[in-house]
Amino acid sequence: MDQNRRNFLKSTALVTGAAMMTNNPYKALAESIPDKFRTGKMNLTYRPYTLQLKHVFTIATNSRTTTPIILTEIEFNGIVGYGEASMPPYLGETHESVQAFLSKIDLSRYENPFDLETILNDIDIIAQGNPAAKASVDIALHDLVGRLMNQPWYNIWGYDKNKTPFTSFTIGIDTPDIVRQKTKEAEEFQVLKVKFGLDTDKEMIETIRSVTNKPITGDVNQGWTNKERALEMLHWLKERGVVMVEQPLPKERIDDLAWLTERSPLPIIGDEGVQRLADVKNAIGVYHGINIKLMKSTGMREAQKMLTLARSLGMKVMLGCMTETSCAISAASHLSPMVDWADLDGALLIKNDIFDGTKIINGKVTLMDRPGIGVVKV
Ligand code: MG
Repeated sequence: MDQNRRNFLKSTALVTGAAMMTNNPYKALAESIPDKFRTGKMNLTYRPYTLQLKHVFTIATNSRTTTPIILTEIEFNGIVGYGEASMPPYLGETHESVQAFLSKIDLSRYENPFDLETILNDIDIIAQGNPAAKASVDIALHDLVGRLMNQPWYNIWGYDKNKTPFTSFTIGIDTPDIVRQKTKEAEEFQVLKVKFGLDTDKEMIETIRSVTNKPITGDVNQGWTNKERALEMLHWLKERGVVMVEQPLPKERIDDLAWLTERSPLPIIGDEGVQRLADVKNAIGVYHGINIKLMKSTGMREAQKMLTLARSLGMKVMLGCMTETSCAISAASHLSPMVDWADLDGALLIKNDIFDGTKIINGKVTLMDRPGIGVVKV
C-alpha cells in the first residue's frame, strides 16, 4: 500500500464517527484539512470554447465537425478546480444556455466546497434540464474538493485504479476504404465501436471484419424502427463478434425495447433512454444495463449514485462520454474501475485538447496519480 493511500485510510478512520453523525463523508473529511482551507469564498468563472473534431462525426441523426463546450473554474483560497460542459447540438444545450444557467449560481454564499450535496442540490433546482451546465459545476467542485484533500477521486470513492477497463474506439460511418484505413489506425484499441442505424450497418461490420477480429460494440442511437428486424440484426451481429448494443429502438418505445431485451442474444444498453438517477429504476426490464455519461447525469455526484444503484439492481453498466477535453473525460474515468464497458475516447477525437489527464494507454483507461480529477492545463 503506498504512503498516500495509508495516510488517506488513517484520516478516514479518524473521522468515521463524525462522518456517520453528519451523514456527509466529504464534510467530515474536511475536518482533517488545514484551517486555511476550511473557510473562504468560492469563485466560479467560465468561458466558451469550441472543440475541433479530427474527423467528420456521423451518427444516425446528424453529422458535424465541431462541438461547443464551456470551461469552468472554481477558485477557493488559491486552489482551482476545473470543469467542463460539452454540448453536442442534438441535446439542446448551447454556449448561450449554459452561460445563462451559470450566471444564476452564487457559490460565494457557501462556507466551503465540502458540502457537495447541499451545493449541488441547490444548483439542480435552479432550473430543470441543463444537465451539461450542471455537470460543469459538479466536475469543477469535485476537482477542487479532491485537490483540497490531496486525493484522487478513485481513492475517495474507494475504487481500484488498476481495475480500469479498455475503452472502445469509435470507427465512424464512412466508405469501405476509409473504414478499413480507420480500423488499421485503431490498432492500439482492444474494442471497436460502430455506429448503426443507417443502411450501412452490415457493410460496416463486414468491412471491419475484413481487417480485424477484435470485439465490437454497437450503438444504434435509436435508429432502428422495426423490433422483429432489430432482433434478426442482433443475431446477425452476435455471429460476427459484436458483444453489446446501445439504444436499438427509440427511447419512447418502452414495450418494444422490453420485448427486444427479453429475446436479445446480446446485452442491450439504454443510453438516450436513461439520463439521470431517477431513470435507473425505469430501466429495469427495458434494458440489460445503462450508459452513464456525466453530461446527462449532471456530473460525478449523480453518476456515482447511478452506478451504485444499477449495480445493486444487477444491471450492466457502461461509462460513456461526448466529444470532450481530457477534463470531463478524466472526471468520468474515476468511475471506470467499476464498469463493464468504457467508451471514453472523446478526447482522442479532438484536435485542440487543453488538458492533460487520464490517458488511454494500449487501449486501457489509465488514471493519473494526481489529486482531484487528475488534470493539469497544457
Ligand atoms: Mg450511445
